[in-house]
Amino acid sequence: MLAYRMTAPGSAELVEVPLPEPGPGQVRLDVLAAGVCHSDLAVLHGGAARWELPFTLGHETCGRVAALGEGVDDLAVGEQVVVHAPFGCGHCPRCAAGRTNYCDLRASLPAAGLGLGLDGGMAQAMVLDRARVVPADGLDPVVAATLTDAGLTSFHAIQGAREALAEPDALAVVIGVGGLGHLAIGLLRALGSPTVVAVDTRAEALGLARECGADVAVLPGDAAAAVTGAGGHGADVVFDFAGAQSSLDLAVSLLRTAGELVVVGSGGGALTVSKPGVLPSGAVVRVPFWGSRPELEAVVGVARGGALTPRTTIYPLTDADRAFEDLRGGRLLGRAVLVPAGTRRRS
Ligand SMILES: [Zn+2]
Ligand SMILES: [Zn+2]
Repeated sequence: MLAYRMTAPGSAELVEVPLPEPGPGQVRLDVLAAGVCHSDLAVLHGGAARWELPFTLGHETCGRVAALGEGVDDLAVGEQVVVHAPFGCGHCPRCAAGRTNYCDLRASLPAAGLGLGLDGGMAQAMVLDRARVVPADGLDPVVAATLTDAGLTSFHAIQGAREALAEPDALAVVIGVGGLGHLAIGLLRALGSPTVVAVDTRAEALGLARECGADVAVLPGDAAAAVTGAGGHGADVVFDFAGAQSSLDLAVSLLRTAGELVVVGSGGGALTVSKPGVLPSGAVVRVPFWGSRPELEAVVGVARGGALTPRTTIYPLTDADRAFEDLRGGRLLGRAVLVPAGTRRRS
């Protein structure tokens, strides 16, 4: 089968590898769709230092069950599923609760997830533990794939701030309307959230933000006036999906007293926490990572209700290089998703 593998620092290539066989407790999926994430670029260019190469990229996957390993009797061949890819030790209390994203042993694990040090979904097929599979029948596979990271990470970030979002007339700001940010706007709407102000540097992303349900969508220079106009006191929650210095500085400036700053993007910006300092009194800062398996099940439920409409650009798996280049060049609106050919095979 074909797989898009990281073979050396800075390089990935499409190669032929043997079809993997599921062991006890595992399943093999025919991959139907695999999302391309900024983390994939970060991994390629320095983020995989501790991991053994090569491995197949892809941590955002939807597939169809193609083969069951010994002892797996609660899934059927042909069933459509999505993959909960964060890797954990499997034994600590957090892993036992499905919170592998916050495994107590995360710092010492040999990989961060499927597609992040372990073979992932940018291939015609993949093998994984049954426990990492969440049923997702009835959804467009391309949409379903985006739920597992772009959707799940956004959902988890929102869940962490749900008390602040429940304030009367709460105001949420979303900075960075990319693969994750546009889904966060849709989720904030679907979960009954308050006024949403979206901020991005690209005019086309502002259009997408409005389509996803943002009340106001503005360039960074207009964000302060928009927040004042929408709420008066500043933002109850600011989600920074860029995490760059400029976006963090903007995020802090928009916060209301006792507001929450949720830094989702890994753009390399830094924030000095001091008292007194740049943060308003009572502020809370969160740095969420991905999401739990129960939260993925919840996101699938939200999507089944029709409330999420991810914007995607589809590439054949054989065009993975081009998808990565388009992401790197900032030419994508929404999420890039790779679709393998020949996934109808059953053997
Ligand atoms: Zn990702
Ligand atoms: Zn663990």
